[in-house]
Amino acid sequence: AKHLRLILGDQLNVMHSWFEQVDSDVVYVIAELYQEANYTKHHSQKITAFFAAMDNFAQTLESKGHQVCYLTLDETAKYQDLPALIATLVTTYASEDFSYVRPDEYRLRAQLSEMSAQLAVPVYEVDSEHFLLPFDELADHFKAATHVRMENFYRFMRKRFAILMNGAKPEGDAWNFDANNRQSFKKTDLKFIPKPLVFDNPASDYLQRIKHHKIDTIGRESEHVAYPINRQQSLELLTFFCEHQLENFGNFQDAMTVASPYAWSLYHSRLSFSLNCKMLNPLEVIETALAAYQASAGKITLAQIEGFVRQILGWREYVRGMYWANMPNYAEQNFLEAKRDLPAFFWNANTKMQCLRSAISQSLKHAYAHHIQRLMITGNFALLAGIAPSQVDDWYLGIYIDAIEWVELPNTRSMALFADGGWIATKPYAASGNYVNKMSDYCKGCHYNVKEKVGANACPLNSLYWNFIDQNYDKFAGNHRMSFPIRNWDKMAPAKKIEIREHATQLLNNLDNL
Ligand code: FAD
Repeated sequence: AKHLRLILGDQLNVMHSWFEQVDSDVVYVIAELYQEANYTKHHSQKITAFFAAMDNFAQTLESKGHQVCYLTLDETAKYQDLPALIATLVTTYASEDFSYVRPDEYRLRAQLSEMSAQLAVPVYEVDSEHFLLPFDELADHFKAATHVRMENFYRFMRKRFAILMNGAKPEGDAWNFDANNRQSFKKTDLKFIPKPLVFDNPASDYLQRIKHHKIDTIGRESEHVAYPINRQQSLELLTFFCEHQLENFGNFQDAMTVASPYAWSLYHSRLSFSLNCKMLNPLEVIETALAAYQASAGKITLAQIEGFVRQILGWREYVRGMYWANMPNYAEQNFLEAKRDLPAFFWNANTKMQCLRSAISQSLKHAYAHHIQRLMITGNFALLAGIAPSQVDDWYLGIYIDAIEWVELPNTRSMALFADGGWIATKPYAASGNYVNKMSDYCKGCHYNVKEKVGANACPLNSLYWNFIDQNYDKFAGNHRMSFPIRNWDKMAPAKKIEIREHATQLLNNLDNL
């Protein structure tokens, strides 16, 4: 009697109850798949990181005595898709049944549940045992096409898991310390930015296979995987974060700079790949950071740890809930009816706008950008320029090391593009050049002038911003949180409005040349 169990590339959870006992009747399948390397155009380093982590996981399971069938792209290439491969393996192993861990992605879950109806043996779906909030409870908190306030959900999670609580009260008597955070870098801050911990895991075998099977990729290729590819490295990165970055995490959470060799990483943990592949458990990350906070004798302040806990206990669990409540319709949302093409510079960083050039070139180089670069640089630009959400989604889903649809899509459609019309944010995160200038040093030394609205040297974000307000005037008119920019636009002299509209139109017709 044999039991076949599938482990997907983002299900590398060695603490899963499946692995508690070694059973010679169980075979675990881990497979490099063409369909997964190709469902969107991924960053080359993202694919090598996933394959390396899967390969490592297979070795870990084998070393614990489990029976593993690891299949490379060479071996799976002849199968049309995942169900075709599984059907063959069930026969090969004369398996009595087939089990899989519930995928976090709608596409894969649909594919596997469809397959279940056709497979000759019984099929079982088991939980991933990863997230804090049980899957069955998502429906209690998230309803389709309905605004859910992250802050309320986050407070519920703080109480539910007794994290940073004094009985029924939040530690420090406040839920939010954002006012203490959100600083930009002063010159003296720059020299303290820690050198990021990167790994040099070998990647050439995977890279070779990617090329051999003609998988189309974006971004810089590398013979090494710089991200953790196993649990031990993931824990090292977590320790590094607690020792060197947590103390300034909240302070500089929104800051951006070009004036540091470590500008691409700053005080961000870069734990998203380890978390999303489930090499780390979110509760364990929170508890480790809390222990570092408690042991720091005040060096790590409450504002810093709360800011970090909020991201994982709050945002990460929240977007998962929004995703499942709203799929598959989520991927069709386009509240602002945006339909322009993504400019070519998103794929080569070839633009005179320093903010976009920095954020995009580091993304192509490292498969990474931090949240504010994603939301307020590339995201804000795509919002103001009215880029079609499906093209923006594809870009984010491909380029980042941590990009998996359940977390990418709510962040892109809702947070960056307001394509949901307000399920997550109550107003679009739209900003002119002024915001970029406040939070970064991108504007210094930029080809464009952030103080100007029109003219050949004017920062494009300025006229695009006002044009965005103008173009969506009716959609925003009923939104009281948009009343401030609406009033300012109303107050602007008619001649000025015409100038801005004309300049913006000219830019929008020439996006590739910005
Ligand atoms: P840190 O700044 O160190 O934060 C710690 C952890 O908190 C992260 O590892 C992540 O797990 C979690 N977190 C923080 N913000 C969010 C958030 N908004 N949503 C969910 N989790 C969050 N995150 C992804 O994991 N995958 C994606 O594909 C992805 N796409 C995004 C697309 C856009 C347009 C935007 C605006 C954000 C996206 N994010 C995505 C969220 C966030 O930007 C990344 O999680 C974060 O930048 C990862 O870097 P880090 O590990 O250094 O994060």
